[in-house]
Amino acid sequence: MTVANDLILDVEQVRKEFPILARQVHDGKPLIYLDSAATSQTPQAVIDTLDDYYHRYNANIHRGLHTLSEEATGAYEHARDTVREFINAESIREVIFTRGTTEAINLVVHSWGRSQLKAGDEVMISYMEHHSNIVPWQMLANELGVTLKVIPVDERGVLDLDAYEHMFTERTRLVAVAHVSNALGTINPIKQLARIAHDKGALILVDGAQAVPHQRVDVADLDADFYAFSGHKMYGPTGVGVLYGKAELLEAMPPWQGGGEMIKTVSFDQGTTYAELPHKFEAGTPAIAEVIALERAIRWLTGLHFELVNDWEHRLLEHATERMLAIDGMRIIGQAPEKSGVISFLVDGAHAQDIGLLIDQFGVAIRTGNHCAQPLLHSFGVDATCRASFGVYNTLEEVDQFVDALNRVLVMVR
Ligand code: PLP
Repeated sequence: MTVANDLILDVEQVRKEFPILARQVHDGKPLIYLDSAATSQTPQAVIDTLDDYYHRYNANIHRGLHTLSEEATGAYEHARDTVREFINAESIREVIFTRGTTEAINLVVHSWGRSQLKAGDEVMISYMEHHSNIVPWQMLANELGVTLKVIPVDERGVLDLDAYEHMFTERTRLVAVAHVSNALGTINPIKQLARIAHDKGALILVDGAQAVPHQRVDVADLDADFYAFSGHKMYGPTGVGVLYGKAELLEAMPPWQGGGEMIKTVSFDQGTTYAELPHKFEAGTPAIAEVIALERAIRWLTGLHFELVNDWEHRLLEHATERMLAIDGMRIIGQAPEKSGVISFLVDGAHAQDIGLLIDQFGVAIRTGNHCAQPLLHSFGVDATCRASFGVYNTLEEVDQFVDALNRVLVMVR
């Protein structure tokens, strides 16, 4: 659905839906939460959904014929269909619930990777990956003798597409790349990356953890073979995420974890047969309440309209960037033309850690550290940055208060 040009998001109304935003910290300072890239806050509707599940129909799914189990199963499977629609997957068989992005990537590494890759094959990742899209591939590469190739990133934080295209060989089997960088905010041209990978005969896995909360994601349009994301970064609960995979790929992949729920029959004499998709990849009792609440988060988020979310977050990004660049000695790491609401920064003469600790005293929550992206930060010659990241509930006034607090902190430490 398109939205009229003159509409803007009613942020005050949105904020009222997040009880935690009314919190005060450090002797009555209003909380200014600028760490949504790590974990977004949770609207009342999602909290209520969790509460309702435990109050009314907490039961294990797919196992019982009793009323509660049927209700829980129905809600869980309904959530799967909502996710399918949300990312425009073709079938619910392509939607696998996981604990989060990390587990989704590990599923592909262990199931697809172990069954499909041989020594000498190549997997391509990029310098801007989160550790969860590096380390599982490194572990597999070490185990199987697979070569890991790393796409370079330029000084603005943009992927070097020329290098990318030239890095393929006939042994390149898969590209694993972030849709949006958590450390820089760079939005990668996934459609183009996918087309190139496919032309070269490789698959593409997209880490969508930082994309799904901020833009409409259409896996069919992107032509992603695998797409992973987490609930807790998109106004949903922790402990739940999604792996999308094209049905024909998932079909050919062996199960990863074994246990209840993922089998058809188990026998000591005749061996074990596995359940159909998607259950083949969902061993054990899943995060039932969280899956159901994730559906609520999706409905909440789509109810805001992505065009408005996008516009608003872009205004926050532009306003914050402009004000921050006016600070003496400010260095913003990551200045890609296509950027999401993430600002990584350093200030001459001040340690990132000191800024993070002191600004918290003013009620401002930002992240400091390596953002689980050590190779990327090292490529910029730094070990740590401060990172302010925006959610749909942040305001321009909060940005101003953050910059004012930052200026006061800098007076203290420089
Ligand atoms: N990928 C990216 C780009 C992320 O930002 C994160 C979390 O910060 C992850 C993967 C890992 O997500 P999770 O910890 O929810 O599994």
